[in-house]
Amino acid sequence: MQEFICKNCKNHFVGKYCNNCGEKIHNENDKRISILFADVFHFVTHFEGTLLTSLKTIILHPGKFSEDYCNGVRKKYFKPLSLFLMLIILYLLFPIFEGLNMRLFYHTSHELYGSFAQKKVSALMTAKNMDWAQVSEAFHAKGEKVSKFLLFIILPVMASLSWLLAFKKRKYYYDHFIYVTENTSFLLLWGFLVLPIIMLFLRLIFGINFLQGDKITGPVVLAGMLIFSFISAKRFFKFSIWYCIIYSIIYLGLLVLFIQNIYKFILFYLTIIQL
Ligand SMILES: [Zn+2]
Repeated sequence: MQEFICKNCKNHFVGKYCNNCGEKIHNENDKRISILFADVFHFVTHFEGTLLTSLKTIILHPGKFSEDYCNGVRKKYFKPLSLFLMLIILYLLFPIFEGLNMRLFYHTSHELYGSFAQKKVSALMTAKNMDWAQVSEAFHAKGEKVSKFLLFIILPVMASLSWLLAFKKRKYYYDHFIYVTENTSFLLLWGFLVLPIIMLFLRLIFGINFLQGDKITGPVVLAGMLIFSFISAKRFFKFSIWYCIIYSIIYLGLLVLFIQNIYKFILFYLTIIQL
């Protein structure tokens, strides 16, 4: 076997690729322009392939993405955090639901921090000489991006809670982090992409308008999440049926509490200080 010296890291190796850094041996043949285009083609199809495989696996086999990923089956999937980021960008590009970017009114009437929010808004109105409508409009525009990227804070918080609920089954915080990333990716997919599209169709075909308010959509999103959490917890943690029910209910309860109170408060605060 011929030995090569890697041009990238100077490692001595045999074979087509450096076993230290992964650099490929290039020869004269690789200097055709068509190779550059073949690379683009490979990048696009690979990107699309792993993205579709990941989304299909998450929707059709809840928990399998995390299970595979934590067991070292990774090549066929998109990296978990990149997937999450992709979904956030999709959600940012196609905001069918107002969803998490709430109108200023909801913050100032919030049970816990409503009066604090009211004071902040009044102070801003005086300082900038704006009326309520102007502040509300500016707030909504600013909150658009903040509300989406702030979704990342769900991951470390829920991973900690999941670790507390299930550390006997999965010792590593890492595993819980992957699981929570899959779970929250499903929430984005289901609550902010798939469900709105179904509702849009219902409206176009039957003229039923479900898009008003979250009286109907809230419970439907939750029901979907509950089913997903139950199945994925069964596969990923291998709990008994009973503990799966307990785990998924507590998990969702904590998630809702977190989003309704802490997430929304941070969202309000981060948005208002930028005005
Ligand atoms: Zn090398």
